[in-house]
Amino acid sequence: MASAATPNPISKNGNPKSAVEPRDLYLARRTIAALARRTPLVHSVALSERTGAEVHLKLETAQETGSFKLRGAANRLVNLTLDERSRGVITVSTGNHGKAVAFVARKLGVPATICVPEQVLAHKVAAIRKLGATVVTHGASQDEAEAHAAELSREQGLVWVSAFDDPWIIAGQGTIGLEILEELPNVDTLIVPLSGGGLIAGIALAAKTASAAIRTVGVTMERGPAMAMSMRAGHPVTVVDEPTLADSLMGGIGLENRYTFAMVQRFVDEVALVSEQAIAAAMAHAVREERVVVEGGGAVGIAALLAGKVGELGRQVVVVLSGANVDMAALTAMLAGA
Ligand SMILES: *Cc1c(COP(=O)(O)O)cnc(C)c1O
Repeated sequence: MASAATPNPISKNGNPKSAVEPRDLYLARRTIAALARRTPLVHSVALSERTGAEVHLKLETAQETGSFKLRGAANRLVNLTLDERSRGVITVSTGNHGKAVAFVARKLGVPATICVPEQVLAHKVAAIRKLGATVVTHGASQDEAEAHAAELSREQGLVWVSAFDDPWIIAGQGTIGLEILEELPNVDTLIVPLSGGGLIAGIALAAKTASAAIRTVGVTMERGPAMAMSMRAGHPVTVVDEPTLADSLMGGIGLENRYTFAMVQRFVDEVALVSEQAIAAAMAHAVREERVVVEGGGAVGIAALLAGKVGELGRQVVVVLSGANVDMAALTAMLAGA
């Protein structure tokens, strides 16, 4: 998903930010306090009974835009220079990232352009427009839309906002880790959905800084697991996107990946893959047993638990439910059918 043309993120004093440090998470928490919610951590009786561990759910489903992406977007946009703010930002996403960027941009009065491929569904474009962003449709594929966005970024000086490969984005997502550690300091296993790796990189940085013994598990779908294949190869590789219930986890990690790949290599202990069937079962479990609506990409942690895909489970387990943006008609059909 990240474009090769992604420019260096520039910090407030104009220096490139080259890494994410533990204190960046604390700075991020202060920065995003007025824009993103502190989300509930709830004990799951059903999953605790099923696994024999104490399982807790971190409900990023309760964020205002329906996913954790709000945290990273808030931290990135608040850290723009005044000059960058007046020029505006650009990104490529009709999903949770685009929604979060559009939402935060409107709150801060920053012009936002979201570039999407031509065949993107009209209701998705309408949803982004409703949030006040300018939508530019261009190209037949995600790659072509990205190339066009990179061009607009250069021409108009719009700041490119990566969905995951950016120190501020990573630090913003890492505030989830701080909240978990405060409420459950004896957590020993963290189970986190994984795509480009911004979410787990930030959370795992928080966790490993608190204790190297906290086990971090990334979960993604069997269909097109870009980070898992890149880890196996030892360098970022491209994958062919396949249709999946976990649509918010689709896309590559960027062949020019600068931050998340190295952080995942360093801080993530295990990557588990889940089937489409397991994701469907997890979404149904979330509604029936936990009374929570979770999108496919947000339910992969539950899927891994239910399917026994986590190698080593500790006693105090937190599963991050990363998003709620699922088509309700599709979800109700799934619940009725399966
Ligand atoms: C983006 C997203 C993820 C994956 O986050 P990365 O930082 O790309 O690993 C997981 N769940 C949901 C709901 C998302 O929108």
